[in-house]
Amino acid sequence: MPFRQEPPALGNQYLDDRVLRSYLRRALPREVLAEVEPELEDLGGLAGGELYRMQLTDRLDEPRLVRWDAWGARVDAVEITPLWRAAERLAAERGLVALPYERRHGPHSRVHQAALAHLFTPATDIYSCPLAMTDGAARTLLSSDNRALAGRVVPHLTSRDPAQFWTSGQWMTEQTGGSDVGLSETVARRDAEGRWRLSGQKWFTSAVSSQVALTLARPEGNPPGGRGLALFLVETRDREGRLRNITFERLKDKLGTRKVPTAELTLEGTPAELVRGTTDGVRHIAPMLNVTRLWNGISAAALMRRGMALARDYARKRVAFGAPLSEKPLHADTLAGLQAEAEAAFHLAFRTAELVGLEEAGGASEEQSRLLRLVTPLMKLTTARQAVAVTSEVLEAFGGAGYVEDTGLPVLLRDAQVLPIWEGTTNVLALDALRAAGRGGEALDCLKRELETCAREARDARLAPARAAALSAFEHAESWLARASAEGPTNVEVGARRFALTLGRAYALALLARHAQWSLEHERDPRAAAAARRFAAAGVNLIADADAEDARILMGDT
Ligand SMILES: Cc1cc2nc3c(=O)[nH]c(=O)nc-3n(C[C@H](O)[C@H](O)[C@H](O)COP(=O)(O)OP(=O)(O)OC[C@H]3O[C@@H](n4cnc5c(N)ncnc54)[C@H](O)[C@@H]3O)c2cc1C
Repeated sequence: MPFRQEPPALGNQYLDDRVLRSYLRRALPREVLAEVEPELEDLGGLAGGELYRMQLTDRLDEPRLVRWDAWGARVDAVEITPLWRAAERLAAERGLVALPYERRHGPHSRVHQAALAHLFTPATDIYSCPLAMTDGAARTLLSSDNRALAGRVVPHLTSRDPAQFWTSGQWMTEQTGGSDVGLSETVARRDAEGRWRLSGQKWFTSAVSSQVALTLARPEGNPPGGRGLALFLVETRDREGRLRNITFERLKDKLGTRKVPTAELTLEGTPAELVRGTTDGVRHIAPMLNVTRLWNGISAAALMRRGMALARDYARKRVAFGAPLSEKPLHADTLAGLQAEAEAAFHLAFRTAELVGLEEAGGASEEQSRLLRLVTPLMKLTTARQAVAVTSEVLEAFGGAGYVEDTGLPVLLRDAQVLPIWEGTTNVLALDALRAAGRGGEALDCLKRELETCAREARDARLAPARAAALSAFEHAESWLARASAEGPTNVEVGARRFALTLGRAYALALLARHAQWSLEHERDPRAAAAARRFAAAGVNLIADADAEDARILMGDT
């Protein structure tokens, strides 16, 4: 018989997920866990079974923009893939958006949702993208005080009935800029009936099959910049299903997230409703971004987990130089490094979900709210970078097979690559974190206290290197900020990314160490502690005392 390599396989993605299960045992009250565990187990079975099979079978199927029907009528329909259609129904029925609004488990509702999303995301070809935006839109509408609009739209966004369920897009980026949205050129004018109508072009609009979208436009006569923009809601189609003065110019030909239909579109007098006021749109859409950034972090952890599940299984099956790869010390060491990154990212993302849940349930202290303001950008940028690095290394763990499309592996890296770009790039979020940290230094103090608490709780001697690495990295970041601030704003800005990544990694390590202590005590399991030591050894402190002058010389023309 010629040699045939046994491919990697997935089991129940909940039952096999030690990190998620151990975390939930610590984070959720016993009765809440007992209630939610059957649905997690069920979704875990689908994720590793039927949905995974569909992903492999439908690999080449992509969304299509259909401009005309057979009889010449303009339809501008976006046909999504079979897995996306299944995901839409599943998401509604399982309440992936509804959960935090039903708030059945009070402050734990976000963790409950995040656990489901962790299983759902890698199994549904990034259907998490429309869910994140839908969740963000619901949160934005509810916090807008526009009761009429929220009353009409939010019940659809949070419905568990697939026939009633709507998704929302988020149309911010224009050709002029996605980071600097203050440059947006879309104009809002009132028509003869006093209705707002939008005209302009949106350059990246994902999940464009959505029924509604939140978008920014400048009411005529408003000043330039972000303040002059207002936040609008657009219903994309009329009762007959026709687009409301919207043209889908084309779908983007993207590196990854290819199942997500991302369009360039033109608005030509598109009817829209003001969400809140006629100015300050960028500020008013902030609740949406906080929610989508949380989803981004959960997705990063989830994609790393999927990669590790496949790589670990493969290492047991692939034989080289007389033994399975899993028995080769260097291969095992390589995977251990990735596992440590994935575990740290997981705890950072889920801690953020805890804080969001507390705040939404009205249970967050002032300290926790300040912490959340700083942690959201830190978490998003840190986990996104980890996801790219880990999924890249996961492909290498498969050798040549990792580079071959019909193994279903390369898509992991291509999809992960979007995580540091959308919802704020690493640099843009690093500057945002700097603003949050700088404001009177209060948020930074909150983070320091949280790190110290984690370090105190992680008292086992085996966690000493992790405690020390987290605290010393934080202290270095803090002293760097004080020194750079004294030297002037350019020096602060040039180091913002290193500063933010150091804080993000230090916090992730402290959270991992705290969980490791619990796991040692309650589960007699040394694996989280090993992950913490490994993560600490990999390098947490990225602060470099290079200054702005070096960057200027290095990047200069002469
Ligand atoms: C697959 C995909 C889907 C998307 N879907 C959507 C969507 O649904 N809705 C939507 O609104 N947008 C969407 N986007 C757009 C995305 O949010 C933007 O691409 C992103 O915000 C960056 O904006 P930009 O492309 O204009 O890049 P730019 O803003 O031009 O940034 C270019 C580079 O400059 C850096 N940079 C910018 N400002 C600074 C600064 N002050 N200091 C240092 N560095 C800086 C950035 O970090 C980046 O590396 C999507 C993008 C992708 C790739």
